[in-house]
Amino acid sequence: MEIRKDWFTGRMCIVSEARGKRPHYFSEVIEQKTLCPFCPGNEKMTPKAELITKIKENNIEVETGEEIWYSSEWNSRVFENLYPAFDTQSDSPNYPYGYHYLIVETRSHNKDIDEYGENEIKSYIEALTSIKRKIEENKKVKYVSIFRNYGKEAGASVSHAHTQIIGSELIPPNIEREMKIFSEKPEAMNLLINEARVQERVIFEDDFIAFVPFAPISPFEFWITSRNKVVDITKDSEEMLKLFNVFSKLIFTMKKILGNVSYNYYFHIAPSSFSNFHWHMEVIPRTNIYAGYELGFGATIITTKPETAASTIKQTLSSNKFLS
Ligand SMILES: [Zn+2]
Ligand SMILES: [Zn+2]
Repeated sequence: MEIRKDWFTGRMCIVSEARGKRPHYFSEVIEQKTLCPFCPGNEKMTPKAELITKIKENNIEVETGEEIWYSSEWNSRVFENLYPAFDTQSDSPNYPYGYHYLIVETRSHNKDIDEYGENEIKSYIEALTSIKRKIEENKKVKYVSIFRNYGKEAGASVSHAHTQIIGSELIPPNIEREMKIFSEKPEAMNLLINEARVQERVIFEDDFIAFVPFAPISPFEFWITSRNKVVDITKDSEEMLKLFNVFSKLIFTMKKILGNVSYNYYFHIAPSSFSNFHWHMEVIPRTNIYAGYELGFGATIITTKPETAASTIKQTLSSNKFLS
C-alpha cells in the first residue's frame, strides 16, 4: 500500500495491488438493435448539420449551408447536441452560455479510433478543428472543451463513435487550477515529463510524449503531450493528424491489455485569454467504478502500480507490428 498525491492535478490515490485480485476488466459493448441516430440515413433523428466533411481522394472537404442539413453524403458530421449542457439562445443569467456540438466521426457504426483508416482520421480532425474555429469566432467564448466518451461505462449514450465540443464563457475549474500552476511554474509540464522519465512511467516518445501519471484516477490512465511547449495543439491540423496517428496506436495497445474497455479522453488546452499553457490530453480507461470510498474520501484506489502499468503498455506497444 502506498499513498500518492500528484502536485499537478492535486489528486490523491492509494496504490493497493491486493485489491487487484478481483479484476473484471472486460466491458463488452453489447450492440443494441435499436435504430442509431448517428448512422448515415438517419440524419433526421438529429438536429441539422452545422458542417460536414467529405473525403475526396486524399483531400478532405468541409461543407456548410442548407443543402447539407440532413444530407446522408458525409464522412464526419457536426450538429448541435439535442440535449445541450450549454446554450447560446437563453438569456437567463443562471443558464450557462455556450455551444455544445457533437461530431459523428465516421460513417461506420462499430469502429473506434484505432480501427480508422488514414482518411477517416483526417476527416475527423478536419471536422473537429473546423467547428472549434467557428466556435472561437464568438468572442464571448473563453474556453473550448473537447472530450470523448467511448463505451457505456464512460458515459456514452450512443455507441456510434462521437466527440463532444463545448465552447463557453466558463473556464472549467480544472483548467483554472492548471492556469494557476502554469503561471507560477511555466515549465510545469516539462517537470512532469522529467519525473515520468526518471520514474520510468514514459510509454512512448518522439515529438509527442505519452506517460502514466504519478497518481492516476484509473490504472492504465495515460497522458499525451508534445515535447516542446505548445499552447493549443488543436489549432494546428497537421500536428493533430500526427497526434492522432500516435493516439490510435496507444488506444489499440490499451485494448490489447484491457479488452474492449470503455474510456474517456479530453484535451486540456489554453483558454483564449491565456498563453502560458502546455496542452495535454488525458486518457482514462474506465476499469474502476467509483464507489462510496472514492466519492466520500476523495481519493481513488489504484490496483496496478503506475510504473507497472507503464512497463506493460510499453512492452505491448513495442510488440505491435505497426512499429516495426
Ligand atoms: Zn450508428
Ligand atoms: Zn490537465
